[in-house]
Amino acid sequence: MTTKDMTAIVLRVNDLGESDKIVTFYSKQEGKLAGIAKGAKKSKKRFSNKLEIFSLLQVLYDTRSRSGLFRIDEAELLAPFMSLRQNYDRYVGGVLACELVYYWSRDYDADQNVFSLLLWTLQSIDRGISPLMVQIFFQVKLYTLLGYRLQLDRCSKCGNSEQPGMPYEFHPARHGLLCGKCSPVVGSRETAPLSLNTIMLLRQAQNLPLGKLERLRFSDASIREALLLFKIYGHYLLQREISAWNFLEKTDIQSCR
Ligand SMILES: [Zn+2]
Repeated sequence: MTTKDMTAIVLRVNDLGESDKIVTFYSKQEGKLAGIAKGAKKSKKRFSNKLEIFSLLQVLYDTRSRSGLFRIDEAELLAPFMSLRQNYDRYVGGVLACELVYYWSRDYDADQNVFSLLLWTLQSIDRGISPLMVQIFFQVKLYTLLGYRLQLDRCSKCGNSEQPGMPYEFHPARHGLLCGKCSPVVGSRETAPLSLNTIMLLRQAQNLPLGKLERLRFSDASIREALLLFKIYGHYLLQREISAWNFLEKTDIQSCR
């Protein structure tokens, strides 16, 4: 059989020549994979408004590939997440999640938990939850799934835990904390300062199921600390810049509440 069916989220869309598009998906069944939509640029009818970033689709595709790309035969729109394309802050939050899944996934290496997490992320932003909060929750869970769970229980060097008044930093190469006594250079560009309050909130986020994360209340300061931590950690692990971070940093925390 050469025709297959999958449930997939669109991560990226690129033009190919005059009339075609290359669409990269993260699918429940196959993981990350890219296909070609013949005539998608010219004939608007067949794939109208479906082959767009964030779209949740049921895709019928032909597995006989040329140059590694399968052919997209049909796409049924299950959820457009339209508000993410109409609101700048939501859009930037959604793009960052899609970019991280794109760079963290190998082709045809399916992880249903990653698919479910990405879907939950887009749904949560679409429901009006602060894109910055959703981003923090998404990345807490993503790094756990990838095997890079943040070690937030104690200082990774001396083992001291939860000393009020003690400054802490997140050190990416240690995947965890350094206390003020052990941190070599306070305020280094490679580490992220964390208050005890932010550490506790992140630990709670690690342990709560997706459906209960909304209960956590982060102050503006904790949101900033957590986002800086994830930016530094992701950059250290991936060794690449993700441009959506720069746009996310410009979004106004207050307007996202
Ligand atoms: Zn220490």
